[in-house]
Parts: sequence; structure tokens; C-alpha cells
Amino acid sequence: MSCIFCRIVDGDLPSRTVYESSEALAFLDANPLTKGHTLVVPKDHYETVGDLPPEAAGAVFEAVSAVTPRVEAAVDADATTVAVNNGEAAGQEVPHTHVHVVPRFEGDGNGP
Ligand code: 5GP
Ligand code: ZN
Repeated sequence: MSCIFCRIVDGDLPSRTVYESSEALAFLDANPLTKGHTLVVPKDHYETVGDLPPEAAGAVFEAVSAVTPRVEAAVDADATTVAVNNGEAAGQEVPHTHVHVVPRFEGDGNGP
């Protein structure tokens, strides 16, 4: 299987799990914009947000909701950017839909 996020979900590639449910997985980004930068993915492979069936969409956002306050607390963030690059022209590099949860710090100047 060539999709790197499917390989992470399957445990074939190492990652640091932040949160897991039956249909979604959250893990630390390998190249974080800020400390604690986390990605939330559906466990099944869907390329874009529009491909997600309602149940997977719900599972992903439930995971985002659970993860965001935990990540903020873990790194003592002031806020969080929650974002999706949806499609190649929008900057999506990994074709397995994923939500960026990026801890933000006063004056960091960073964002997805
Ligand atoms: P995109 O540009 O598709 O919205 O974001 C892809 C994200 O995946 C980037 O922030 C990048 O650092 C992260 N990423 C790419 N490959 C890997 C990997 O093998 N492991 C992890 N944990 N993150 C990755
Ligand atoms: Zn995949």
C-alpha cells in the first residue's frame, strides 16, 4: 500500500498517536509547524473532504473536538488553528484527507 497515512493507520509506519477511536486516528505531524501539531485522519482512505461518508466525517470531527483541548493543554497553547488543505491546488500533499490541529502561541506567525 502506498498511501502513507493508510500505512500509519495500519501500523506499518511509525507515528506518535495522540488519540484513537474506531474510525479515526490522531498522530503528531512529522514536520510540525508548531510544537504539538497533530493530524486527524479517518482510518479508511478517502482522498478529500467531499469523499467522506457522513459517519466518517462525524468520526473525524469528533476526534478533532476531543484532540484540540488536549493538545492545547499539553503544550500550553494560547489557541489552535484547525484546518484542511482540501485538494492539490489548496496545498494537500497527502491524498488521504486529514485535519491539521496546530497549536498557536501569541505572536508565532505560523499557520497551515
Ligand atoms: P498537507 O500538505 O497534505 O495538508 O499536509 C501533509 C502533512 O503531513 C504535512 O504537515 C507533513 O508534515 C505531514 N506528513 C507527511 N508525511 C508524514 C509522515 O510520514 N508522518 C507524519 N506523522 N506526518 C507526515
Ligand atoms: Zn490512505
